[in-house]
Amino acid sequence: MINVSQPSLGVEELAAVKEVFESNWIGKGARVDAFEAAFAEHIGVRPENVATLNTCTEALFLSMKLLEIGAGDDVVLPTTSFVAQANAIAAHGARPVFCDVDPRTQNPTLADVQAAITPATKAVMVLHFGGYPGEVEQIAEFCRERGIFLIEDSANSVASRVDGQAVGTFGDIGAWSFDYAKMVVAVDGGMIYARDPKLIERARKIAFFGLEQESNSSQAERHANRWWDIEVSSFGRRTIMNDVHAAVGHVQLTKLPSFVAHRRSITERYDALLAGVPGVVVPPPLPAGHENSYYFYWVQLPEGIRDQVAKELYARGIYTTYRYTPLHRVGAYGADVSLPKAERAAECTLNLPIHQSLTESDVDTVVAALRDVLANLI
Ligand SMILES: *Cc1c(COP(=O)(O)O)cnc(C)c1O
Repeated sequence: MINVSQPSLGVEELAAVKEVFESNWIGKGARVDAFEAAFAEHIGVRPENVATLNTCTEALFLSMKLLEIGAGDDVVLPTTSFVAQANAIAAHGARPVFCDVDPRTQNPTLADVQAAITPATKAVMVLHFGGYPGEVEQIAEFCRERGIFLIEDSANSVASRVDGQAVGTFGDIGAWSFDYAKMVVAVDGGMIYARDPKLIERARKIAFFGLEQESNSSQAERHANRWWDIEVSSFGRRTIMNDVHAAVGHVQLTKLPSFVAHRRSITERYDALLAGVPGVVVPPPLPAGHENSYYFYWVQLPEGIRDQVAKELYARGIYTTYRYTPLHRVGAYGADVSLPKAERAAECTLNLPIHQSLTESDVDTVVAALRDVLANLI
């Protein structure tokens, strides 16, 4: 089976894990600090502006709490988004207000966002679909002018930039994921960025029971007397990262440039081989100054055949999927709106395999199978 996505973990990650095991400290400690510092450098911010977490979902949930978003507040987000985004909003009592997206990039344009703004809009939450930055600059500027918070779910876009600036740092809060399906894998893990370092201080406390003290091996050194006493500043939970995961994530981060280069070459090969195939529309070119992470590769097909194409490719050993089912169609969010561009894209888009272990010959296999399946259907 050619997988749609797959992690690339090697001997270097295993060696890093072995070292952590042998140190006898597997909790949150020096490796987490080192990973945070390396990630901050990667996105061009200071270490006090980021904190690791156990997941990206936790970063999105925390963003609501840190920005004090709750009952009576609206949060605008593209309907073509990951479920965790809408869950974070709804779970805090706020209302997710879904906006439409550009049908080609599946990112919301500034105009799409503007069309969904209400008097109660307190924040906008965007996703950079498949690694395409989208109109993040324009959306950030609009939010700043209007006094609306911007939260960037950058789980798809760990290496994406606009004019050299990392996406995820254009707004007030950014969130990244290091789960099994992402480009930088920490087994599981997340990162939160906040423009205001005070929010990161708060995030760190909430992520560790709301304690004033940090979880760290050097705790005993810092409290000469009665280091077992506690002070609680908020009723927090335990959503910190550990040194085992941080060690894996850190090694992966050093490999990120090669991961991006490989995915870029896969993307270019798909683009070249699919150009001119009847019925296939490939992703649009990147605007000047935009850098992609090449997280997704997708094609758009004539109406009515996408599901059948997916089934036939699966039968030939090629796993494809669709990202992301429009959330306004999910009953739990109770949104009675029509978002025609996203709805159309959701019926004709198919995500093709792309990952760091995919070979040129795998790409050739996928393209040949797709051509063959399409020739019988159109
Ligand atoms: C993977 C993903 C998440 C959730 O990340 P976890 O670390 O698994 O919680 C959130 N948003 C997007 C866009 C994702 O791709």
